[in-house]
Amino acid sequence: MAYTVSMEEENKEIARRYKDLLKGTYQRLTVSDKKDIRKAFEFALEAHSEQRRKTGEPYIYHPIAVAKIVAYEIGLGTKSIVAALLHDVVEDTHYTLEDIEGEFGETIARIVNGLTKISRLSKEQNASIQAENFRKMILTLHDDVRVILIKIADRLHNMQTMDAMPEYKQQKIASETLYIYAPLAHRLGLYNIKTELEDLGLKYTEPEVYNDIYSKIEDSKEEQVQYIEFFSKVIKDTLSKEGFSYTIKGRSKSIHSMRRKMRTQGVKYEEIYDKFAVRIIYESEPSQEKFDAWKIYSIVTDHFQPNPTRLRDWITQPKTTGYESLHITVMGPLGRWVEVQIRSERMDEIAEKGYAAHYKYKNAQEKESGLDSWLNRLRETLENPEGNAVDFVENFKLNLYAEEIFIFTPKGDLKSMPKDATALDFAFSIHTEIGMKCRGARVNKKLMPINYVLKSGDQVEIITATQQKPKLRWLDFVVTARARTRIKAALRDEQKEIAQEGKDVLVRKLRSMKFTFNESLINEMVAYFKLKTSLDLFFRIGNGSIENSHLKEFAAQRSNVFVNFFKKRMRSSPDTSNIEKNVVNENYDMLVFGNEEEQLDYTFAKCCNPIAGDKVFGFLTINEGLKIHKHNCPNAVSLQANYAYRVMLAKWIDSTQQDFNVFLTVSGTDKFGLVSQLTRIISNNMHVNIQSLNISGQDGIFDGQITIGVKNKQQLKKLTDNIKKIDGVETVERIYKQ
Ligand code: MN
Repeated sequence: MAYTVSMEEENKEIARRYKDLLKGTYQRLTVSDKKDIRKAFEFALEAHSEQRRKTGEPYIYHPIAVAKIVAYEIGLGTKSIVAALLHDVVEDTHYTLEDIEGEFGETIARIVNGLTKISRLSKEQNASIQAENFRKMILTLHDDVRVILIKIADRLHNMQTMDAMPEYKQQKIASETLYIYAPLAHRLGLYNIKTELEDLGLKYTEPEVYNDIYSKIEDSKEEQVQYIEFFSKVIKDTLSKEGFSYTIKGRSKSIHSMRRKMRTQGVKYEEIYDKFAVRIIYESEPSQEKFDAWKIYSIVTDHFQPNPTRLRDWITQPKTTGYESLHITVMGPLGRWVEVQIRSERMDEIAEKGYAAHYKYKNAQEKESGLDSWLNRLRETLENPEGNAVDFVENFKLNLYAEEIFIFTPKGDLKSMPKDATALDFAFSIHTEIGMKCRGARVNKKLMPINYVLKSGDQVEIITATQQKPKLRWLDFVVTARARTRIKAALRDEQKEIAQEGKDVLVRKLRSMKFTFNESLINEMVAYFKLKTSLDLFFRIGNGSIENSHLKEFAAQRSNVFVNFFKKRMRSSPDTSNIEKNVVNENYDMLVFGNEEEQLDYTFAKCCNPIAGDKVFGFLTINEGLKIHKHNCPNAVSLQANYAYRVMLAKWIDSTQQDFNVFLTVSGTDKFGLVSQLTRIISNNMHVNIQSLNISGQDGIFDGQITIGVKNKQQLKKLTDNIKKIDGVETVERIYKQ
């Protein structure tokens, strides 16, 4: 495919494209704006004059096209148009950033600098470097969102003109687009661009699928037009009678989202019922917009039966991206369900143009602050130096695509959270300290545990307790990146603190046992207790899972010369490859069951002999209690199929790191001050948490149920022994809830 055009024709074409850029920008351009753009155009034209695109076309076509996307589709102003025209100059030509700053000033230079940095970064190949780049790229969001917006425009144009590229490059660029740029565009509210990026991404990653769906959509175009006409006819008269000015159009689902639907729901193209939506766009005064939307809703549902479970009111509560619209699915003509989207011209513009349109409607301040707070949240996550970049991108993407739910604060303010967020996530979203001290929540005035999964519309008040501390198992249910990083950081801090305490304790104890505290002794102990590091050892002494009796056993072992001799020999020829592997399982010393992760008594099944770390499940036998089987045990399938109700979820844990909920019943004679004694004893025990406490008394007798979090059985035993010592307490029993 040779590119042959005369110089004259080519210059004409460049001039035509440039004029086209100026013709209908989204923002109104002043004379001086036009001057600036002209200057940038001429600068870029000269700078790129020696360069050609892969197609053979002059390079300048690309910056002009990017500037056009920036102006028309994103709707940014002069500064961004200028920066878009110049975006590849520093990267690809002999001009420097200083040249740009000298000619166009500091702001433009800064934006171009950001864009240059990103394009240098994205030349790396490796996936994790890619993720790291992305992280850096997001950091620039904080400097100037325009950098990212122009970068997205750049990517869109590159995707639109990728045919001349070698296939391996197409693959790489397309995957990166699906992985990073489409979610980003989505989050910035650039729905049209996001859709186009996704469709183009699919076109190059799965061409057959893309072409198949594409041609099917083409084939059904006519039918769709007819359907919309049919639909319009029914409601036209009523809408006009009410004095509405409006347009009705059909909106096809994107190829990519059809693909997603076919895959997730396992349906064929023909079976997708909502291939397109009907969109009603009406003229309205700002003060009447919402009222008008519901008037139109009422007209539509007068003629077509609505599906009450599929009403989405994004007008009363817009999405955090600023999206506003009223969606309803109705039984349309020909007995087909069809989604109707009702929105004013202003809402439509915001939906199409996204972020930039907010500038135009200045009174939409809330949406601006919504974006601000999103950027702030992102920055916080980024500034946390822990964790690797791939994790970060995954978390970020989760947050991007997560559907939103809306939660009321006690004062009635609305906050948006990702779907599946828990009360604890919500606590962290209010403030880190509130998250750290979160003990539970009052949801719609009812007391709920911290892992309660929030539902849209819940009113949530967080309950805190000063002695509360983050727990490892919190990580099992939080879904927001923010909560996750905060909990991890706190756990590390706490572990270090406990280890420090433990070290002090150990020094004292060793002294009283006439040992000298030194490195080689500590190494011996680490090996004896099958731990990895001295930190693990100090930590376990600090939290009480290695006790005096264990230390004595160690001392006894050590004084045994014979044992010592063998130990030394074993240590002199360590098989490191195996040690590494075993250590991981070494910590998995205990099973917990069910969603509540209860500690129950169990034995291992003889048929498959599971060991710590294996994938296992519990099976309740009639006579022999709870038996543990491997997932791939020969009997597993038949047990699970025939006695599903007796199968229990089982999970391996490191008992020294975890808290278990244990339920105790306490009874005795009712004495004054008993409850306060009870709570004091429980909380004086190191690292025990009271989850709930219920005491009821009658005729001088009391009954109590206590739920506590403990680390291990020793700790529990110590605690129950201490409770028994309280004057008046008769029995303390552990109960197993079903
Ligand atoms: Mn470019």
